[in-house]
Amino acid sequence: MARSVSETRASTSQPQTASSGRSTASRRESAESDQQPIAHTAIADFLSAPPPGTPRAVVDALQLMIGDAPNPLPPSLYFETVEQSPVAISITDAKASILYANAAFEHLSGYRRDEVLGKNESILSSNATPESIYRQLWRTIQRKKTWTGTLVNRRKNGDEYLAELVISPVLDSAGEIAHFLGMHRDVTREHELAAALRQQKTRIENVLDAAPTLMVLLAADGSIILDNMEYKKLFGDLRGQEPLPLLRQALREQAGFDPLERTIPATGQGEDFKNVEVSLEVPGTLGPRWFSCSGTCISEQDGSARSYFGHGKLGASRLLLLATDVTARHREVERAHLEHLRARIAEQRLTQGMREALTAASYQIQTPLNLLRAASAMFASGAGTVEGFAPTLAQITAASEQALQTLRSALPDEVIEAGVSVNVNELIRHVLALETDALLAAGLTVDWRPAHVLPEITARQTELRSLFKNLIDNAVQATLEGGRSQRELHIATRALDNAVEVMIQDSGPGFPSGDRYKAFEPFYIGWRNRRGRAGMGLPLAQEIANQHGGSIEIDPDYQDGCRLRVNLTNALPRD
Ligand code: FAD
Repeated sequence: MARSVSETRASTSQPQTASSGRSTASRRESAESDQQPIAHTAIADFLSAPPPGTPRAVVDALQLMIGDAPNPLPPSLYFETVEQSPVAISITDAKASILYANAAFEHLSGYRRDEVLGKNESILSSNATPESIYRQLWRTIQRKKTWTGTLVNRRKNGDEYLAELVISPVLDSAGEIAHFLGMHRDVTREHELAAALRQQKTRIENVLDAAPTLMVLLAADGSIILDNMEYKKLFGDLRGQEPLPLLRQALREQAGFDPLERTIPATGQGEDFKNVEVSLEVPGTLGPRWFSCSGTCISEQDGSARSYFGHGKLGASRLLLLATDVTARHREVERAHLEHLRARIAEQRLTQGMREALTAASYQIQTPLNLLRAASAMFASGAGTVEGFAPTLAQITAASEQALQTLRSALPDEVIEAGVSVNVNELIRHVLALETDALLAAGLTVDWRPAHVLPEITARQTELRSLFKNLIDNAVQATLEGGRSQRELHIATRALDNAVEVMIQDSGPGFPSGDRYKAFEPFYIGWRNRRGRAGMGLPLAQEIANQHGGSIEIDPDYQDGCRLRVNLTNALPRD
């Protein structure tokens, strides 16, 4: 019994339709269908004695399939269905010579039907498809199997397009290949989108790998979904030990929480965290390495079919854990603290030495003073003579010189510090950090506005630090004496031509206009509370500024306190 194309299709295989959604990767590979034609005789045998209880509908369907039943559909409908299909359909002989092509084939290929009839399907071939694919295609269909794959086709106008193709053999009643049925559609756009997606993914991976921060994306069970180059580098530094468990342990032990339990707890709402610093012992490094860690919960999108129209479930929660190596900053702060400590000890030693020398000198100066008092009394009573006073004068001179000598010996040796490249913003930040206790004790609000970019200057670092420390100490003292409830300290930096300017402004009483110059004279003390003050802070600060080719000025126009401008240039030679 002769079978129509539709019957044969129904009875042989059910090839994957061109519109079925397969992944790009699997589409790239040609695939064989494992569907075998259903034996016509087997159905006929079954129908000759259907087992008792076989539903009537099954018997009817099988009879229709083998053409043993009156066909309820007119043959023209089969034709129109194929003709009007949106998929490009062609029927060929066993050598791929085209016998029929539908309207969609004409539209897609650009050929009119009469131009392709009798021609081989190779009329569509482009040299961009490797020959091995054609060989595989033919091997498959000649084994009476369905071939599904992707070819690069060429339109009549020469344009190329990517064709997703299904070729099924159509067998004759003897079970031999009589025809082939080809169905294809243009999947160029899908390919372009998939390529764009792959490119975007590569871009994101490159950006993540170039970031100087360790990044790792975790599932709720703690498994790693994605990591970047910094993570892999740390893995190497840890000599093959996985960094994640160590980071989690460090956060648990040093910050008191587990990053996963904090951000995506099994129950309830999680909480992100930011800039939590922990240390790790990494082999081969001097001291621990410090990491500033942040964790953010990321909700992924539901990819199920239901989500297509917005009926999906909530996507899975992930933890994005970031860890930036801040060891260098930590070491710098530690170094600055040590330096400060060293300076404090040296300062204390100096103060102690000067105290001792001053005590000794003031004791020694008592002798000439007593002699002077005695001589004055003698002269006042008329008993003293100029000749008789000569030995006393010599005694007074000797005792005074000894006191002077004691004072001189207490003068510290001048230490010449080397000039190095200094970032004034950084330096002031350190001074402020070291002055934190004093600023807090004074209840001062500090408004620190560093210039976004400041040129480095050559400077003696310790001297500059003591310059700003003196000025900030003065500002603190001024606000305490100012008596205002609002105590404020504003510090700002800016770059000038070949110079750096630092503005220090406090809300204290300010300088009366007559005292503006006196303030820079040695031993001038304008404070009400003079205890522990030598009146040398401003003169020393000015001396340091001068050595750096700069100056310190009190802004005469500022009335709400004191505003100082410190100018520093690159005048110091670099060692
Ligand atoms: P060819 O020399 O024709 O063939 C290349 C290789 O394919 C040969 O080395 C050989 O291994 C094998 N081969 C070719 N013809 C036969 C054969 N008759 N028997 C056994 N092996 C053979 N090709 C497209 O490029 N685009 C299409 O859209 C397309 N649709 C097709 C639809 C159907 C229904 C069929 C049956 C084939 C289709 N083909 C299509 C394949 C086409 O017939 C050609 O084989 C292919 O285009 C390669 O042509 P060619 O001239 O470059 O090389």
